Amino acid sequence: MRLKTFPGGIHPHDEKHYSASAPISIMPTPPRVIVHLSQHIGAVSSPTVKVGDTVLKGQVVAEPAGFVSLVQHASISGKVTKIAKFLHPTGIMSMGVEITSDGQNLSVDMPDDPDFMSLDAAALKARVSAAGICGMGGAGFPTHVKLSPPEDKPIDTVILNGVECEPFLTSDYRLLVERADDILHGLRLIMKIVSAKKGFIGIEANKPDAIELLQKLTAKEKDLAVVPLKLQYPQGAEKQLIFAATGRKVPAGGLPMAVGVVVQNVATAVAIYEAVRYQKPLIERVISVTGSIVNKPMNLLAPIGTLYSDLLEHCGGVSAPIGKAISGGPMMGFALPALDAAMTKGSSGLVLFDEKAAKSMQEHTCLRCARCVDICPMNLLPSMIASAVKYKDLEMAVKAGLNDCIKCGSCAYVCPAQIRLVQWIDTGKIRYAEAMRNK
Ligand code: SF4
Ligand code: SF4
Repeated sequence: MRLKTFPGGIHPHDEKHYSASAPISIMPTPPRVIVHLSQHIGAVSSPTVKVGDTVLKGQVVAEPAGFVSLVQHASISGKVTKIAKFLHPTGIMSMGVEITSDGQNLSVDMPDDPDFMSLDAAALKARVSAAGICGMGGAGFPTHVKLSPPEDKPIDTVILNGVECEPFLTSDYRLLVERADDILHGLRLIMKIVSAKKGFIGIEANKPDAIELLQKLTAKEKDLAVVPLKLQYPQGAEKQLIFAATGRKVPAGGLPMAVGVVVQNVATAVAIYEAVRYQKPLIERVISVTGSIVNKPMNLLAPIGTLYSDLLEHCGGVSAPIGKAISGGPMMGFALPALDAAMTKGSSGLVLFDEKAAKSMQEHTCLRCARCVDICPMNLLPSMIASAVKYKDLEMAVKAGLNDCIKCGSCAYVCPAQIRLVQWIDTGKIRYAEAMRNK
């Protein structure tokens, strides 16, 4: 099998064996959920319900506050018991709607429309928008916005991201092997909406059964192709995936549409299919609960807003004290201060480490070994960015590539001096955004 890839990158152990063979199972309705009003990039959604209201599963509880925003829906039926700040998977406190279950799981009507492919692009997009879908690979960009490129940016190619290059996570893998037909329906719908002539599905070589299955299902489809990819992190980052699949380079500061491409995650493709065919809002997703100390690692189809503590309890808890809990994968995810955070539409995993594995190492002085420079997939100077931020020289940090950094964490992973390069870069990005606002 000829494997494609991108320049730079690293090879962390994939650690997927904990949960890879666990089929998707359904999380029982939790006692309460918290539907965060910010589950996406863009304006925070505005609540349309008040404390005391009863809601059905799938009912709107918040409306978008602008075009780059999302509608939010109740993911269980019950009563609105609080609208307040709750712990978000990114580790911050953020506004959300708490719904306490009535134990009945009553849903709004989600009618089957088997003739869904005959709808025109505008009608398809309207259903995607009404379903409140955002990118489910973690970035959280509202999907209806991504599917609305300006007229001067024609799209000829759609790439489905089935790479899942983050260690430990297996939710996309399970979708690839269990719901391949739905993923392909989603791909066809995206292609129709943006008028693309070609569709690719990028899958890393550590999922040979998924590659084989998708190749079999697309064998007679001339406009679709599976792209087997080398095991290399961050293969699933948009720019790296586009380069590997098409050879096109997205310019610095540019978006995929600049090279005629739209990238969507495979979980998003399934959500698009369900939104169009059943008018089903994005109220549940598959999340991997995994790590060496999880008693029963699982891939759970859970209501959006389920607390991480409830997910872990359903997986039988842990076999040793938790040293670190991460929302998402260990490379780009967020360390959680507590497990009472509620999962969002972008929550692909809960990864738990014991105390030994979580021990933080001491930072040393830079050795000028240039390892971070050699592996940076964006061709940046990570050591220089970090040191410029440390010494508050924002201009130098920007020159060294601050704004092009995708925060993949590869530089910190290889740094022998244990310098917290990504934290410095993150600080630089926050300071830069502040400086721009003040201007
Ligand atoms: S500088 Fe940014 S893009 Fe480059 S390796 Fe570090 S985190 Fe990744
Ligand atoms: S890898 Fe670490 S020690 Fe080496 S140049 Fe980069 S920051 Fe310095």
